[in-house]
Amino acid sequence: MEYICNLCPRQCNALRTESEGLGFCKAPYLPQVNLIAPHYGEEPVISGRRGSGTVFFEGCSLGCIFCQNYMISHGLSGKGKAMTAEELADSYLMLQDSGVHNINLVTFMHYAPEAARSIECARNRGLKIPVAANISGYEEVSTLRMLDGLIDIYLTDMKFYSSALSSDLAHAPSYFTKACLALDEMLRQTGDPVLDETDPGCPLLLRGTIVRHLMLPGNLFDSKHILDYLVSRYNDRIYISLMNQYTPPAGLEGKLPPELGKTLSEDHYLKLISYLEELGQTNAFVQESDASGNDFLPAFKY
Ligand code: SF4
Repeated sequence: MEYICNLCPRQCNALRTESEGLGFCKAPYLPQVNLIAPHYGEEPVISGRRGSGTVFFEGCSLGCIFCQNYMISHGLSGKGKAMTAEELADSYLMLQDSGVHNINLVTFMHYAPEAARSIECARNRGLKIPVAANISGYEEVSTLRMLDGLIDIYLTDMKFYSSALSSDLAHAPSYFTKACLALDEMLRQTGDPVLDETDPGCPLLLRGTIVRHLMLPGNLFDSKHILDYLVSRYNDRIYISLMNQYTPPAGLEGKLPPELGKTLSEDHYLKLISYLEELGQTNAFVQESDASGNDFLPAFKY
């Protein structure tokens, strides 16, 4: 049977094979995995004390030009390992046995059908911990519905408000519109946040949606528009995670807008935190001022 891919808003109609043509995400149909490992650098309700069981997939349907994991997200590492749904399920169970708090599938929506099968397979074989979808927000609602009932936590991005900005930085002028529709669907699936507070010093998210916003240098007003929208529509039904770790990507000098060649102004980040507080959001995470740089990146294979 021929497979034609329209999983994401790119709507490539690609056959997803090397010989017959890959789509924008440069990913073949079968999931390609770069790294499987516990990760301790997510929000505290995700990483907890024992880490989050991350599975990092290769390729990305958004493909921001400033991506910190550029080689992996643009399908250039050449080190991805093809894995079937059954093999992925094995890895989730192995991570569960290692003691992590959850399974964290990172940038996998271009493999959504196989990912859905892998979660079903793992559940049938004894996977008990929550499964988190760690995604870019540039999704089709119909693809998210393949995961209905399988995902406990969405960790999604809301990257851009302005269509001009998303067009320049990700070739995705419809990003904000698509991300808003997708976020409604994610919240429909997860409902409001549910915490496990057994360990009072370290509550863990069992169900719910966290929306991450990576603040970009020189784009304070775009960030404020995003917060206006998120708080007015959802308020504390979601967590908002404000990230300051933008790092100018090495090797792209001259290809980026000038403001993205710098790190984020601390003053602008503090202003955005104050703005979120003034809007009345309580469920929020912010990062320490020294989170910038590559130190917190996991050890990917390039
Ligand atoms: S998942 Fe990849 S091939 Fe499919 S529509 Fe999106 S970018 Fe194109």
